[in-house]
Amino acid sequence: MVKICCIGAGYVGGPTMAVIALKCPSIEVAVVDISITRINAWNSDQLPIYEPGLEDVVKQCRGKNLFFSTDVEKHVSEADIIFVSVNTPTKTRGLGAGKAADLTYWESAARMIADVSKSNKIVVEKSTVPVKTAEAIEKILTHNSKGINFQILSNPEFLAEGTAIQDLLKPDRVLIGGRETPDGQKAIQALKDVYAHWVPEDRILATNLWSAELSKLAANAFLAQRISSVNAMSALCEATGADVTQVSHAVGKDSRIGPKFLNASVGFGGSCFQKDILNLVYICECNGLPEVANYWKQVIKVNDYQKNRFVNRVVSSMFNTVSGKKIAVLGFAFKKDTGDTRETPAIDVCKGLLGDKARLSIYDPQVNEFKTLDYQRIYDNMRKPAFVFDGRNIVNAEKLREIGFIVYSIGKPLDP
Ligand code: NAD
Repeated sequence: MVKICCIGAGYVGGPTMAVIALKCPSIEVAVVDISITRINAWNSDQLPIYEPGLEDVVKQCRGKNLFFSTDVEKHVSEADIIFVSVNTPTKTRGLGAGKAADLTYWESAARMIADVSKSNKIVVEKSTVPVKTAEAIEKILTHNSKGINFQILSNPEFLAEGTAIQDLLKPDRVLIGGRETPDGQKAIQALKDVYAHWVPEDRILATNLWSAELSKLAANAFLAQRISSVNAMSALCEATGADVTQVSHAVGKDSRIGPKFLNASVGFGGSCFQKDILNLVYICECNGLPEVANYWKQVIKVNDYQKNRFVNRVVSSMFNTVSGKKIAVLGFAFKKDTGDTRETPAIDVCKGLLGDKARLSIYDPQVNEFKTLDYQRIYDNMRKPAFVFDGRNIVNAEKLREIGFIVYSIGKPLDP
């Protein structure tokens, strides 16, 4: 029986391994973490993260071929394939602070693997890491390898929070990068064999290590860039009387562009986009490519601009101050169907409003229920004039205006 161990029971490690266990009954999957609280939660009825469909998959496999444990060393030493899915946040101090990826969690996982391994291992980079990380990991694993053959693969994860299970069950592609040596190719094949249990062959792409590592950063940068592009347009729409929904629709109809990721919003958030672009910027700078770095920096600048623009719009609409005014914030996670509030734009918006001494009540339901609120009742209970600032273009602005609200919808002609 093939044994898989995943180090890191977070938003990626948990769901990814649960789906592997579901689709590969012949494989034993152990997910390990240094956080006792997290592992206890995975073993309970209250999973540590919310994802539609996750609970179902975990309940089907847990205790059969899916195990959650804090006994990191035991499971690592027994595994044939070790996924490393630890966090890789932005460095906060030292060289590259504010941009480079902090690989301390990765490094300590790699050192532990080197220490406890007694048999050959395939070590898979599941975390998002800078291009060339595998080279450093290889050095750590092999410096004292006691004759053990370690093969490093890059298998970045493309799931999106909120649709993780769906994305894992039907991935657009699975990317596996490895060394071009016979051992490297054998390792790629072993991982392909795992995914082949449910992913069609033409969706499993094999590349060299550096292409796989870089593709993940590139994919996130491209996605974030689309959001910043449409958000930049939303500012121009407001200035000119164009409607960003109509513009996005027209632009997205072009088959070369496509309709996805073209919704104007208060800005992108989540734990990945900003950190991965900063990481890309840092790599470009280190490789003597400042112009390329500046190009990607601009994606983040526009995102910051959009969040500030929204706060300024709220304050200026409410007679240039929100001091002492009660504002309800509906939705706090960075998008619907997730309980994840890491790096949500709501934090910056709330901070901006609190900076002007607003009084905030924050509500988040994990699903998108704000279309169907009883806005008439809400209006009746509010101090007038009553404002709605829609940073996601979710509400029916026309209906709300009929009730009496003053409505600001991002990227749309201003309240007449
Ligand atoms: P997370 O913070 O939710 O989970 C990481 C886990 O690793 C934590 O529970 C932590 O306790 C554990 N850990 C850290 N060091 C450890 C060690 N030495 N031994 C055992 N456990 C250890 O992070 P996440 O959101 O799952 O992201 C993990 C990686 O995947 C990151 O590199 C991220 O960029 C990438 N990624 C995330 C997403 C996403 O949507 N969250 C999507 C694709 C890729």
